[in-house]
Amino acid sequence: MVYKAEYIWIDGTEPTAKLRSKTKILPDDAELPIWGFDGSSTNQATGDKSDCVLKPIASYPDPIRGGDNKLVMCEVMLVSGKPHPSNTRAAAARTARKYKKHEPLFGIEQEYTFMKDGRPYGFPPAGYPEPQGGYYCGVGEDEIHGRAIVEDHLDACIAAGIGISGINAEVMPGQWEFQVGPLGPLEVADQLWVSRWLLYRIAEDYGVAVTIDAKPAKGDWNGAGAHTNFSTIEMREDGGYKYIEAGAKALGKKAQVHIENYGVGVEDRLTGAHETQRFDQFSYGVSDRGASIRIPWQVAVDKKGYLEDRRPNANMDPYVVTRLMVDTVCSAMK
Ligand code: ADP
Ligand code: MN
Ligand code: MN
Ligand code: MN
Repeated sequence: MVYKAEYIWIDGTEPTAKLRSKTKILPDDAELPIWGFDGSSTNQATGDKSDCVLKPIASYPDPIRGGDNKLVMCEVMLVSGKPHPSNTRAAAARTARKYKKHEPLFGIEQEYTFMKDGRPYGFPPAGYPEPQGGYYCGVGEDEIHGRAIVEDHLDACIAAGIGISGINAEVMPGQWEFQVGPLGPLEVADQLWVSRWLLYRIAEDYGVAVTIDAKPAKGDWNGAGAHTNFSTIEMREDGGYKYIEAGAKALGKKAQVHIENYGVGVEDRLTGAHETQRFDQFSYGVSDRGASIRIPWQVAVDKKGYLEDRRPNANMDPYVVTRLMVDTVCSAMK
């Protein structure tokens, strides 16, 4: 017998990469082989040298097709065997190896917006819905749009073995969040990409699109972020608070390079309003949702735990963000 392996990869679209996938039929007992694709159709090659290589890095039970079928997260390689320039995982893997002894963990809060007929799901055909107020964690047909899709996605992530840790409705109609983690830097990034793919794929069947655009509605509406919660073993142990503060300070020293890599349109989202700090300012504080880095209240009480970087956009690349955070915080640790 045979099974279906859905090979998933990240393309070369600028400024924000897209997910792509295609299906390979494999004999039941077959290992996952490398595979090729036409890079000239994904902004990853020119037509005369179009072959790119898909190298499987992780596989998950396919919750949509069920049975023995698999989802296969891949990284893109050149035919020479070197990582393709669009492959941000290779550098993330090097950094993860270098700082392994600090046992970094991440929990990423992925916000996103359902789109229907070219506007956020739940927005009227003309004008605007009621201002923000009742939508966040709301209940009821007047507040909530797309819950069936969200529930299907949650079940699919659990069935695929993704370390999803929660979901909630967000402050704008049609806007939602799921969290992945805590997991190591590569695992969280691989699984975030796969869970994004599952979301787009499942919403297809409902005739609804998904965007991770950081500012899907102009005006007095929250943007969409990907708050990135981070800890090292030192931060999680008794007396960890001083490492959390040191981590926040280290992130402050490199604020500009982080902002530049936290997703397209980060300046439009980090305005200083809507629970954000301005993109060109840096601050950290306990419970402060207007800071760049928030130390959760419970962490301040326990004097150990983790910090939350509130700056990454929903459209960020988790390989890039986790690599930078590990590098900045761990390289500053004695
Ligand atoms: P918020 O209160 O900001 O909305 P959430 O509950 O949405 O926070 O997300 C917090 C995330 O932080 C979760 O994914 C959780 O698993 C993760 N997390 C918890 N503890 C740690 C830790 N020690 N290190 C890294 N991430 C953590
Ligand atoms: Mn959250
Ligand atoms: Mn949120
Ligand atoms: Mn948060």
